[in-house]
Amino acid sequence: MVSVRYQVQDFVQKSKVFHNHSIGTIYMLKISGCGAPCAGGNVKLMDYSLLFYCFAFFTIILGRYFIIAGGAYLLFYSLLGKNIAKRSLRQAAPMAEAIFNDIKLSILSAVVFAVCATFIILEYKLGFTLLYTDPQKYGLWYLVFSFVGVLFLQDTYFYFMHRMFHHPLLFRQMHYGHHSSGDPTPWSSFAFDPPEAILQAVFFVGIIFIIPLHLITLGVILMTMTVWAVFNHLGFYVFSWSSKNHWLGKWFIGPTYHSMHHSNYKMYYGLYFTFWDKLLGTDSE
Ligand SMILES: [Zn+2]
Ligand SMILES: [Zn+2]
Repeated sequence: MVSVRYQVQDFVQKSKVFHNHSIGTIYMLKISGCGAPCAGGNVKLMDYSLLFYCFAFFTIILGRYFIIAGGAYLLFYSLLGKNIAKRSLRQAAPMAEAIFNDIKLSILSAVVFAVCATFIILEYKLGFTLLYTDPQKYGLWYLVFSFVGVLFLQDTYFYFMHRMFHHPLLFRQMHYGHHSSGDPTPWSSFAFDPPEAILQAVFFVGIIFIIPLHLITLGVILMTMTVWAVFNHLGFYVFSWSSKNHWLGKWFIGPTYHSMHHSNYKMYYGLYFTFWDKLLGTDSE
């Protein structure tokens, strides 16, 4: 009973802090499990303002995009040149206008993801999320299990959302931007119309309340998503295992399957795996 009353008081106290904070630097009274205690019983909830976090995340997310997508583009569309031409999955060379449009949409996506990342940090500091920092808390095996489990859940979420986006009533507003370049380039990997970017980011905002995740696991998942998305949009067939006939490759979405999706909207809606496409018959025309 005492414990329940304490938890209710704790929740009320956290809620007051949440509602009373300003957009500037946030301070709060010491609350169990939130932030580091200091003399006098006060703790600093956020080291910097929310705007600072938003700007910092925006810079990191956009920097990550330019480094990974830009690096892949430079490598495959310039440095490797004719050495890789035979492996191209494209119908024609990429247009500067299409790349510019992809970058413009990606900047908007970075804004959306930065706002969501700031929200996640705020909720984490308030102690509302299931994020944790001690790797032994659920055992080391759980780090791997949660990583694979979240990839599968994200793939499931993405598959059904993506199929929904291709409904004629939604396509123009929700998903046209991603397909506007026709054949993809690495620059297309983060090019989403803002409604799509919001729904993609919402997955991460939700998952931290449902599944315990180590902070490093969350970071690795986000990095996997980024690298995999760039891989899917390479426009080149790279690895022999990423083919339809390979015993392992046929289970993963890669540049071949995703290029097929960009030219034929009715197939391969998955993000990482072909599991749902195979199960629901969207793995062929
Ligand atoms: Zn699509
Ligand atoms: Zn795509």
